[in-house]
Amino acid sequence: MKTRAAVLYEMEAGRPYSASRPLAIEDVTLDGPATDEALVEIAAAGLCHSDLSVINGSRPRVMPMVLGHEASGIVRELGPGVQGLQVGDHVVCSYVPMCGVCAMCRSGTPSLCEPGGRANASGTLLTGARRFRNAEGRPLNHHLGVSGFSR
Ligand SMILES: [Zn+2]
Ligand SMILES: [Zn+2]
Repeated sequence: MKTRAAVLYEMEAGRPYSASRPLAIEDVTLDGPATDEALVEIAAAGLCHSDLSVINGSRPRVMPMVLGHEASGIVRELGPGVQGLQVGDHVVCSYVPMCGVCAMCRSGTPSLCEPGGRANASGTLLTGARRFRNAEGRPLNHHLGVSGFSR
């Protein structure tokens, strides 16, 4: 599907950001959900300090990257393996993906999820996949394992 995203192509833009405008608001392609994924229509998304840390380069990430991971929205489509969610559910996105089965997740500290941390570092979803592409077909990395779309 087609949607729009805030894409960061280069870290450490000059300040003020109102002049350098480090984020490109672009039309992008978002693939549908795989087996264990949900497609969420984003109602609202914040741009938080961890996004800013990528923009200013203090927390480097792989470029290019779609920013804005603290979101709420409505489930519009589910992969065949998803349990516990239904189309139409209202959801919020966690700031870290969690697998639900690693030692950290099972001990009640999903914010330290090990596969989630690896996905964050590599700019992918938990499955290792990337679902966004820009107009030139270039894959775009995910910030904190989150993707969604807006109308
Ligand atoms: Zn955040
Ligand atoms: Zn986990």
